[in-house]
This record gives sequence, C-alpha cells and structure tokens, in this order.
Amino acid sequence: MQWRKGKRVAIVGGGPGGISTALAFLKKGFDVKVFERQAEPKALGGAVLLSVPVLAVLQDYGISLDNFGSHTTVAFKNNKGKMRADLPFNPIVEKAFNIKGWHYGVLRSSAFAKMLALVPEDIIQSNHSFSHYEENANSVVVHFSGGESVEADILVGADGINSKVSTQAFGDPGLFHIGLRIWLAWCDPIDGIEPNTGVISHSHKYQASYFPMLHDGKPGYEWWIVEPQKEHAPKPADVKKHVQNILKDFADPLPRFPDATDFDSQIFCWDVYNRPSLSSWSKGRVVCVGDAVHPVSPYAAYGMGMAIEDGYFLAKFLEGKDLSAVTEINNGFTRYEQERVKYVNHNVEFARKMGNIFHHQPYPLAKIRDFIYDHTPILNYMIKKDYLSEQEAMCMSMSELHVKQAG
Ligand SMILES: Cc1cc2nc3c(=O)[nH]c(=O)nc-3n(C[C@H](O)[C@H](O)[C@H](O)COP(=O)(O)OP(=O)(O)OC[C@H]3O[C@@H](n4cnc5c(N)ncnc54)[C@H](O)[C@@H]3O)c2cc1C
Repeated sequence: MQWRKGKRVAIVGGGPGGISTALAFLKKGFDVKVFERQAEPKALGGAVLLSVPVLAVLQDYGISLDNFGSHTTVAFKNNKGKMRADLPFNPIVEKAFNIKGWHYGVLRSSAFAKMLALVPEDIIQSNHSFSHYEENANSVVVHFSGGESVEADILVGADGINSKVSTQAFGDPGLFHIGLRIWLAWCDPIDGIEPNTGVISHSHKYQASYFPMLHDGKPGYEWWIVEPQKEHAPKPADVKKHVQNILKDFADPLPRFPDATDFDSQIFCWDVYNRPSLSSWSKGRVVCVGDAVHPVSPYAAYGMGMAIEDGYFLAKFLEGKDLSAVTEINNGFTRYEQERVKYVNHNVEFARKMGNIFHHQPYPLAKIRDFIYDHTPILNYMIKKDYLSEQEAMCMSMSELHVKQAG
C-alpha cells in the first residue's frame, strides 16, 4: 500500500460514509487508509431505502445494480388506506441514469457488504480508535487511543453521530433527542401485497410504513413504525405486542407484518437524535462526512444515502489536487461544501419538520392536520417542493454519471 505525500487521505470511521469516501478517493488515484475502532466494519441491521443518485454512485464504484434492490413506487396514505400523496418518477432523471424509478429497498448489511468487497485489502485498519489530531503547516497527525499515530495530508471524519473528529474541529455538537423512536423491521415476502409499491401511512399519532426490498437477491419487506417517545423511555417488555397494538389501527397489510418477522433478529429500535445544522464541515486539513456533521431523522433524510453521496462529492472536488498544498485542499473543501451543506441541511431540517408535524401536534390540531391532508393536495405539494425537486436538481447536476445517450 502506497502512502505518498500529497495524496494521503486518512479516514476515521468505516461506516457507509467512510467506505464510500475510501472508494471514491481510491478511484481518483489517492492513497487511502480507513481507521475503524471495531474489529471489523459492520452495518447496523435492518433495511434502508436508497434513491437513484446513491445507486448511480454505487454503480460508479463498481457495484452491479442487477438484483441490488427492489424498485418501488411510494404512496403516502392515512391509516385507513386513503391516498394523500405520491412520489412520481421523473422520466428525465430515469433516462439520465438509465435507472428505473426512484427508491430501492435494500438490506443495509447486504448493500454495505457489497461496498466493503470493493475495498482492497490493508486499506481498513481495524481496532483503531481515534483520540485526537494535531494539524501543522504541512500535514495532519492522527492519534489513536493505543498511542499509535499516522501522518496524513487530509483527515476525513466519518465517525458517526458521536464523532470525535467533528467535536474537535467544530465543538460540542449539542445533540438533542427529537422525541421519536423508530422500530425498524424486515421480513420475508407475505402474500397479497401489490408488487413494487411502498406505503408510508399515518394515524393521528404514529407512522407505520412498508416497502418491498431485496436482501441478498431475495425478495422481502422492510416495515417500520415511528412512535413519539421521550428520551430514555424504557423499552416495552414485549416488543411484538407493543407494535401489534400500534398496527391494529392501520389498514392491511400492516397488521400482518409482525407475524412474518423474527423478533430476535429482524427488528431494531432507533432513538433518533439530531444536532443544530452546521454551516461548514471543514477546518484546515480536516473535513467530515455523514452523521459526523448531519445526523438524520426519518422522513427522507436518508442517512446512509447522504453519507455515501458525501464521500463521492468530496473526492470529486479534490480530484487532481496536490494535498500537500493547503490552498488546494481548501479550494476542494469549499466546492464540496457549496455542493453539499445547504442541500443536506435542507433535507435534515425538512425531515425534522415532518416529524414535528406528524408526531408532536396536540390532539385537536392533529385532527385538523389530518382533515387537510385527507382533503387537499397540500402534502403532495410539500413533498414535491421540499424533497423531490431538490433531489432531482442534484441528479441532473451529476452529469458525469449520466449514461451517454445514443447520438
Ligand atoms: C438503529 C439505527 C437504524 C437506522 N436506520 C436507518 C435507516 O433505515 N435508513 C437510513 O438512511 N438511516 C438509518 N439510520 C441512520 C444511518 O445509520 C446513518 O445515517 C448512517 O449509517 C451514517 O453513516 P456514517 O458512515 O456517517 O456513520 P456510521 O454508520 O455511524 O459509521 C461510523 C463508523 O465510525 C466508527 N467510529 C466511531 N467512532 C470512532 C472512533 N473514535 N475511531 C474509529 N472509528 C470510529 C463506528 O464504529 C462506525 O463504524 C439508522 C441509525 C440507527 C442507529
């Protein structure tokens, strides 16, 4: 493994953001080391929806999209099954990437395993827990808790929501619990569900949703519940009974999912934390990606996808640069931030707003909200304006990944 001055990229954290960053920089000819505190990088269990730009990036890294995920149309409904909004496909985006649809359901562990398989041996240095860094005029020295250290040209903090890199660079993140907990589950196929269709549905208090997905090429479903809940609330003794109790007020097929799910290995609880948005993700020779600078909430703030995109764009804007020169680095970081910070903060804040609207309104207001969403196109309008249009614009700007059209 080479470690040439001017090309040395040290990445702390081997999650989706760190591995994407590694793949993107390797592709651009840089020397890369990923330092992961665990014995091996692991994806949290459960399923995830990845959207077209993320698929295009993964395809660019070398992942085949055949049998990668389940292509899905998305509908927003109320808990009785009444349609409120849909997410249409944009034929221009489809044509640009030659990828059908918009959302793909995948099992996180199998998608992550495909990314890991592309990383050459020796790049990932396991059992390395970052402690701090020191920056000097010509390099950055990264220190680990065992006393080891490494000199690099840039340091990428991809160490997740409790990032030590980000805390050293930008101060305490001020994490706060957003008053939501999510039960994320997956199961094998069950009968009688319209194919390629995912539903996000709301009662006056809960969200319950499902999507088709592929896990290791096999079909199945992911399903989840968003539940308003205080920080540190105790977990229910009987999780299955708890979720069944919530799902009984939802239209078919949602109440049928728990019986198809193994509650020992196919359901995960996620207590959701956020931080105030940052206006910059870099300082000197240090830059961050993923949850280290923008932990997500549910509702389209697709954390795994955004972490993967960050790594791709960071390498794109540092391509060809001599990383010994701090001015070149800063120029690349600035372009990366111009591309990502506003866009990502918008997504995260929109997601938080949706969480508030759907789960934290007192009863009379919740009833009025539901009446409006059931009888007007407002929800449809909000989703298209605040979520889809931004994503579509980003897709069109990624022209280097567009397929060449004949003629
Ligand atoms: C239970 C749960 C369920 C989730 N479900 C979804 C979902 O369905 N959809 C979705 O889009 N997002 C989901 N998320 C969010 C998603 O996991 C993150 O947004 C995404 O993983 C961010 O990727 P990342 O690489 O930035 O950080 P992470 O995935 O957190 O990876 C950080 C890596 O850094 C390592 N690390 C941390 N500290 C150090 C250190 N000091 N030294 C070295 N290494 C270190 C960690 O071990 C880890 O491997 C979920 C999160 C949780 C907790």
